[in-house]
Amino acid sequence: MKLYPLFADLKGLPVLVVGGGAVAERKIEALLEAGAQVRVGAQQLSGNLLEWSAQERIAFIGDTFQPAWLDGVWLAIAATDDRTLNAQVAAAATERRIFANVVDDPGLSRFQVPAVVDRAPLTIAISTAGAAPVLARRVRETLESQLDHALGALVGLAQRYRVRIVQRWPELAARRVFYDWLHDGPVLSLLRNARAEEAEQLLVQALAAEDVVSASGSVLLVGAGPGDPGLLTLHALRALNRADVILYDRLVSDAVLALARRDAERVDVGKRCGGRHTQQAQIHQLLLQYVQAGRRVVRLKGGDPFVFGRGGEEMAFLQQHGIAYEVVPGITAAMACAAYAGIPLTHREHAQSVHLLTGHGKDSLDAMDWPALAQSHQTLVVYMGVATLELLTQRLLEHGRHPDTPFALIENGTLAQQRVVSGVLHELPVRAQAQGIHPPALLIIGEVAAMAHAHAWFGQQTTATSHTSLPTSTEAGAHA
Ligand code: SAH
Repeated sequence: MKLYPLFADLKGLPVLVVGGGAVAERKIEALLEAGAQVRVGAQQLSGNLLEWSAQERIAFIGDTFQPAWLDGVWLAIAATDDRTLNAQVAAAATERRIFANVVDDPGLSRFQVPAVVDRAPLTIAISTAGAAPVLARRVRETLESQLDHALGALVGLAQRYRVRIVQRWPELAARRVFYDWLHDGPVLSLLRNARAEEAEQLLVQALAAEDVVSASGSVLLVGAGPGDPGLLTLHALRALNRADVILYDRLVSDAVLALARRDAERVDVGKRCGGRHTQQAQIHQLLLQYVQAGRRVVRLKGGDPFVFGRGGEEMAFLQQHGIAYEVVPGITAAMACAAYAGIPLTHREHAQSVHLLTGHGKDSLDAMDWPALAQSHQTLVVYMGVATLELLTQRLLEHGRHPDTPFALIENGTLAQQRVVSGVLHELPVRAQAQGIHPPALLIIGEVAAMAHAHAWFGQQTTATSHTSLPTSTEAGAHA
């Protein structure tokens, strides 16, 4: 036996809900969204239902069920925890040929309420005929993560222009090409980027154009996060699902790449553009080449594209060449490694600010404001610092940061092989060397780093540490 799927227009129609608890409330909310006139009968109403009743959004009709409650209604839902009462409601409804649903009881139900993915006017309803509600929820979760939230706006726009679109392209084949452009191209991007007016203008232009619009290339600068694929944003995941070409850096993890569309072309620009100086220029040329060929390009970078990722340069290049782009932020190594090492970057007592620094090269170190950085009660997070640990430590000590200031070095943060080495500042270079720390590793210096050991929750606990207690505020600040 199969259920017949159905979307009902309940606008202005009376519907009965029996029950006044949290479950009833959820059903009533959805009915109200669909414009139904909701009558509620229940022994007791929840706080919200009382409020809605006072506001006359719903009509309260009594506490003891009577079949007359069903007079004139189109649908009924029984959502009480009394099975006999639910069965009574269902039987009375069936007698009157009114469709009834009993929450969580498919045997008593004439219709079922599906799990829903809401991108109205696009609505996706999922049913397992009551056999496996958990599976229905999982399917829903999957679709939620895959489907762009701007899709609702796109469908709404297409709906408003439907007649004109059909007039303009009476032949189905041409219309399909147009719809492909609409679904894949710049209109959806503009809607996603909160530019509804421009999106509509573009649609109007396309309707007025001579030919069917051809696909145009675009670039998404996407942050891949630090490695754990669970740290991708939904935007990043969707971009990977739709990419034609992915230009990725060395730091992007295999697990993240594995999520991309199977037939997307993957270009390892970390390897391919080896030489230090030519690297960035070559990446720019590749971007240009792919996008001019009409491909959807994802430029995938470790962490966040705008934190020590040269994303700013790539964006400026694209802008200069009139290429459409979007930027999808990623979880930067500082946030991710700190969290996965149990270190809060700020703390009411121990750190009032966070500085993100790069330890890459002596020149950048020389340019830093050491007296400011050496102050206590602030957290320093150093990217690309493995090679310059000694110089960095020396500068901080020279400018008065307390030698017992805690540090944590996090190697391969968020990956299964994550390793955390902690200790105090004056012993940092020695300990890093003794533990054989290799890039990628992130260095956190500051009072908060003392929390790493006691609060560790991720990865193997092989952690080497020589300092476990949080220093008192006077202790670590004494030399400053
Ligand atoms: N755009 C990136 C940073 C690129 S610079 C971001 O926002 O995270 C590269 C440096 O980032 C590495 O040298 C290292 O210091 C740090 N890093 C990136 N991923 C890391 C990881 N998984 N574990 C530890 N450090 C990481």
